[in-house]
Amino acid sequence: MTDGSGTGGCECGATPGPLGECVDYYHAILAEEQADPEMYRWHTVVVCAYLLQHPARAYDKYLDGQFRLLQLYLDKGLDALLRVAAHQVARNRHGSRPGYDMAPLAEYAPLPRGGSPGPFRAGFCGLPFRDGSIVPDGYPAYGRRMESIAEATVESWRTLTA
Ligand SMILES: [Zn+2]
Repeated sequence: MTDGSGTGGCECGATPGPLGECVDYYHAILAEEQADPEMYRWHTVVVCAYLLQHPARAYDKYLDGQFRLLQLYLDKGLDALLRVAAHQVARNRHGSRPGYDMAPLAEYAPLPRGGSPGPFRAGFCGLPFRDGSIVPDGYPAYGRRMESIAEATVESWRTLTA
Protein backbone atom coordinates (compact mmCIF):
# COMPACT_ATOMS: atom_id res chain seq x y z
CA MET A 1 0.00 0.00 0.00
CA THR A 2 1.35 3.39 -0.99
CA ASP A 3 -0.31 6.68 -0.28
CA GLY A 4 2.19 8.81 -2.15
CA SER A 5 2.87 11.03 0.84
CA GLY A 6 6.36 12.42 0.78
CA THR A 7 6.95 11.27 -2.77
CA GLY A 8 5.14 14.20 -4.35
CA GLY A 9 2.37 12.40 -6.15
CA CYS A 10 -0.71 10.28 -5.86
CA GLU A 11 -0.72 6.69 -7.12
CA CYS A 12 -3.08 7.68 -9.96
CA GLY A 13 -0.70 10.34 -11.22
CA ALA A 14 -3.08 13.26 -10.58
CA THR A 15 -1.91 16.65 -9.38
CA PRO A 16 -3.43 17.51 -5.98
CA GLY A 17 -6.32 20.01 -5.97
CA PRO A 18 -7.20 22.70 -3.42
CA LEU A 19 -8.58 20.09 -1.03
CA GLY A 20 -5.51 17.87 -1.27
CA GLU A 21 -4.93 14.51 -2.89
CA CYS A 22 -7.57 12.10 -4.18
CA VAL A 23 -7.92 10.47 -0.77
CA ASP A 24 -8.92 13.83 0.71
CA TYR A 25 -11.63 14.26 -1.94
CA TYR A 26 -12.71 10.67 -1.45
CA HIS A 27 -13.14 11.13 2.29
CA ALA A 28 -14.95 14.45 1.74
CA ILE A 29 -17.39 12.70 -0.61
CA LEU A 30 -17.97 9.79 1.78
CA ALA A 31 -18.65 12.21 4.63
CA GLU A 32 -20.98 14.45 2.63
CA GLU A 33 -22.99 11.69 0.96
CA GLN A 34 -23.75 10.07 4.34
CA ALA A 35 -26.05 13.02 5.03
CA ASP A 36 -27.34 13.39 1.48
CA PRO A 37 -29.39 10.51 0.02
CA GLU A 38 -29.49 12.10 -3.45
CA MET A 39 -25.70 12.34 -3.57
CA TYR A 40 -25.39 8.83 -2.11
CA ARG A 41 -26.97 7.41 -5.29
CA TRP A 42 -23.48 7.64 -6.87
CA HIS A 43 -21.79 5.90 -3.92
CA THR A 44 -20.96 2.71 -5.82
CA VAL A 45 -19.55 4.71 -8.73
CA VAL A 46 -17.38 6.72 -6.33
CA VAL A 47 -16.02 3.65 -4.56
CA CYS A 48 -15.36 1.62 -7.71
CA ALA A 49 -13.72 4.49 -9.59
CA TYR A 50 -11.61 5.52 -6.60
CA LEU A 51 -10.32 1.99 -5.97
CA LEU A 52 -9.67 1.33 -9.66
CA GLN A 53 -7.68 4.55 -9.88
CA HIS A 54 -5.82 3.58 -6.68
CA PRO A 55 -5.56 -0.22 -6.78
CA ALA A 56 -2.89 -0.29 -4.07
CA ARG A 57 -5.70 0.69 -1.66
CA ALA A 58 -8.07 -1.99 -2.90
CA TYR A 59 -8.58 -5.70 -2.37
CA ASP A 60 -7.39 -7.40 -5.54
CA LYS A 61 -10.14 -9.99 -5.47
CA TYR A 62 -12.88 -7.34 -5.65
CA LEU A 63 -11.36 -5.14 -8.36
CA ASP A 64 -12.65 -7.27 -11.21
CA GLY A 65 -16.25 -6.95 -9.97
CA GLN A 66 -15.75 -3.22 -9.42
CA PHE A 67 -14.40 -2.83 -12.97
CA ARG A 68 -17.48 -4.60 -14.33
CA LEU A 69 -19.85 -2.53 -12.18
CA LEU A 70 -18.43 0.64 -13.71
CA GLN A 71 -18.93 -0.79 -17.19
CA LEU A 72 -22.53 -1.68 -16.32
CA TYR A 73 -23.09 1.89 -15.08
CA LEU A 74 -21.71 3.38 -18.30
CA ASP A 75 -23.70 0.90 -20.38
CA LYS A 76 -27.07 0.92 -18.61
CA GLY A 77 -27.10 3.96 -16.34
CA LEU A 78 -27.33 4.72 -12.65
CA ASP A 79 -30.69 3.06 -11.97
CA ALA A 80 -29.47 -0.24 -13.39
CA LEU A 81 -26.31 0.00 -11.30
CA LEU A 82 -28.35 0.72 -8.16
CA ARG A 83 -30.47 -2.38 -8.74
CA VAL A 84 -27.41 -4.59 -9.17
CA ALA A 85 -25.61 -2.99 -6.20
CA ALA A 86 -28.67 -3.45 -3.96
CA HIS A 87 -28.80 -7.08 -4.98
CA GLN A 88 -25.12 -7.49 -4.04
CA VAL A 89 -25.67 -5.89 -0.62
CA ALA A 90 -28.70 -8.08 0.14
CA ARG A 91 -26.79 -11.14 -0.92
CA ASN A 92 -23.77 -10.32 1.24
CA ARG A 93 -26.03 -9.58 4.20
CA HIS A 94 -27.28 -13.13 4.08
CA GLY A 95 -23.66 -14.12 4.52
CA SER A 96 -23.91 -17.05 2.16
CA ARG A 97 -21.04 -16.21 -0.14
CA PRO A 98 -18.85 -13.13 0.16
CA GLY A 99 -17.81 -11.22 -2.94
CA TYR A 100 -19.78 -10.24 -5.99
CA ASP A 101 -22.50 -12.21 -7.72
CA MET A 102 -20.99 -12.20 -11.17
CA ALA A 103 -24.15 -13.24 -13.06
CA PRO A 104 -25.36 -9.69 -13.88
CA LEU A 105 -21.76 -8.72 -14.66
CA ALA A 106 -20.76 -11.66 -16.81
CA GLU A 107 -21.24 -9.83 -20.11
CA TYR A 108 -18.63 -7.20 -19.21
CA ALA A 109 -14.89 -7.32 -19.80
CA PRO A 110 -12.75 -8.73 -16.98
CA LEU A 111 -10.14 -6.56 -15.34
CA PRO A 112 -6.91 -6.59 -17.37
CA ARG A 113 -3.78 -7.63 -15.53
CA GLY A 114 -0.85 -5.31 -15.22
CA GLY A 115 -1.24 -2.85 -12.36
CA SER A 116 -2.49 0.71 -12.36
CA PRO A 117 -2.94 2.24 -15.82
CA GLY A 118 -2.95 5.90 -14.70
CA PRO A 119 -2.84 8.79 -15.23
CA PHE A 120 -6.55 9.14 -15.86
CA ARG A 121 -8.26 11.72 -18.04
CA ALA A 122 -10.58 12.64 -15.15
CA GLY A 123 -10.10 12.04 -11.45
CA PHE A 124 -11.05 13.08 -7.96
CA CYS A 125 -8.60 15.95 -7.58
CA GLY A 126 -10.40 17.74 -10.40
CA LEU A 127 -13.72 17.90 -8.55
CA PRO A 128 -14.94 21.31 -7.40
CA PHE A 129 -15.11 22.00 -3.68
CA ARG A 130 -16.91 25.19 -2.72
CA ASP A 131 -18.68 26.34 0.42
CA GLY A 132 -17.71 23.10 2.10
CA SER A 133 -19.41 20.96 -0.55
CA ILE A 134 -18.40 18.61 -3.33
CA VAL A 135 -21.82 19.26 -4.89
CA PRO A 136 -21.73 23.06 -5.18
CA ASP A 137 -23.77 23.23 -8.39
CA GLY A 138 -26.41 20.53 -8.18
CA TYR A 139 -26.80 16.79 -8.62
CA PRO A 140 -26.97 16.65 -12.43
CA ALA A 141 -23.57 18.33 -12.64
CA TYR A 142 -22.22 16.00 -9.95
CA GLY A 143 -23.60 13.01 -11.83
CA ARG A 144 -21.94 14.13 -15.06
CA ARG A 145 -18.60 14.46 -13.25
CA MET A 146 -18.96 10.97 -11.79
CA GLU A 147 -19.74 9.64 -15.25
CA SER A 148 -16.62 11.34 -16.67
CA ILE A 149 -14.49 9.82 -13.92
CA ALA A 150 -16.02 6.39 -14.54
CA GLU A 151 -15.41 6.71 -18.29
CA ALA A 152 -11.81 7.80 -17.77
CA THR A 153 -11.22 4.93 -15.36
CA VAL A 154 -12.57 2.23 -17.67
CA GLU A 155 -10.85 3.80 -20.68
CA SER A 156 -7.39 3.74 -19.06
CA TRP A 157 -7.77 0.20 -17.77
CA ARG A 158 -8.78 -0.94 -21.24
CA THR A 159 -5.48 0.34 -22.66
CA LEU A 160 -3.79 -2.52 -20.76
CA THR A 161 -5.48 -5.08 -22.99
CA ALA A 162 -4.37 -3.39 -26.21
ZN1 LIG B 1 -5.07 9.77 -6.99
